[in-house]
Amino acid sequence: LTVGVVKETKPGERRVALVPTLVGRLARRGLRVVIESGAGEGARLADEVFEEAGAEIGDAWAADIVLTVSPPSVADIGKLGESAVLAGFLAPLTNTEELAAMKKAGIRAFAVESIPRISRAQAMDALSSQAGVAGYRAVLLAAQRLPKFFPMLTTAAGTVPPAKVLVLGAGVAGLQALATAKRLGAQATGYDVRPEVAEQVRSVGASWLDLGIEAVGEGGYARELTEAEREEQQRRLTEATTGFDVVITTALVPGRTAPTLVTAEAVRGMRAGSVIVDMAGETGGNCELTEPGKEIVAHDVTICSPLNLPAEMPVHASELYGRNLTELLELLVNAEGELVLDFSDPIVSGACVAGADEEVR
Ligand code: NAD
Repeated sequence: LTVGVVKETKPGERRVALVPTLVGRLARRGLRVVIESGAGEGARLADEVFEEAGAEIGDAWAADIVLTVSPPSVADIGKLGESAVLAGFLAPLTNTEELAAMKKAGIRAFAVESIPRISRAQAMDALSSQAGVAGYRAVLLAAQRLPKFFPMLTTAAGTVPPAKVLVLGAGVAGLQALATAKRLGAQATGYDVRPEVAEQVRSVGASWLDLGIEAVGEGGYARELTEAEREEQQRRLTEATTGFDVVITTALVPGRTAPTLVTAEAVRGMRAGSVIVDMAGETGGNCELTEPGKEIVAHDVTICSPLNLPAEMPVHASELYGRNLTELLELLVNAEGELVLDFSDPIVSGACVAGADEEVR
């Protein structure tokens, strides 16, 4: 079987779905790796580096298994072979036209977003690996925009107090943001509606903000707040945010639009020069004034809503993502290098968003 690694076409996407260090691992499974020329450019990986690792440069779209980072366009889906397998971020809940094209083409598509978050699938969890990268990067962005130091400085010219950073939503991205802010010397505080993450927040050296609102739903995930809870949360957060220099928001309930945590009034209450990095822009944003994909200034507060932070760290983001995909491939391909799709496995059936029908019946 051949595994194709295509050149990403989405503007600004600099990640690549596989890195040279993983080519040998796939070869040991009997898989031949074909790279589209220039696929690794954004991640500083020249064609020759892939070739030295044992890959070939060629028509990656014609491979038996095609790996991508971003969802391919309808035109690109048309380049896939008839019985091809496609794996990558496919945005199955929103990319309806592309999903229909995959089904029509008869290919089998595996969306990494749909891999169930069970412990056996942790090594394949691309949402987590990329959210970690994004959480780190969001703090660096905030530090650059803030007209202040992050760490406390004691100098001959006086002492500078540390910046105060509040992270709303302490999931994967939030915890990484807290740890990064702390490492840069800021005073970091975390908040979430799941009280059990308080311990994790403290374990990275941050303080826990308790607003007295808990919302734990099925499977331990956050549930959507009721209207009354939402109003109460916004009111308490408007009071809490005034003392912070930086607010990083990551709150998300899967499958829902992002909850509004930071209202326009809360922004007005922040000190001039403060910074908000809203990581939830993709689903509408956690701040009322956020303009997804843009950086704006409102009430003298900079509000950034970058939509693809992992693409700004393409080297490590690609390494981690490539490992996630390699783990997935090792589940789909047996030791003899044959494609064996076991749809009784919840990971295989969960991730398969097109082409599973025949096998399930
Ligand atoms: P996650 O599910 O691990 O974390 C989300 C957290 O939000 C959970 O801990 C949840 O309890 C909390 N939450 C939900 N509703 C809340 C509320 N009303 N108040 C407070 N907390 C609440 O998700 P993640 O993987 O850490 O991703 C976080 C966000 O970052 C998502 O919106 C994701 O799309 C986004 N993201 C953005 C980028 C980017 O480049 N902008 C990259 C990766 C992830």
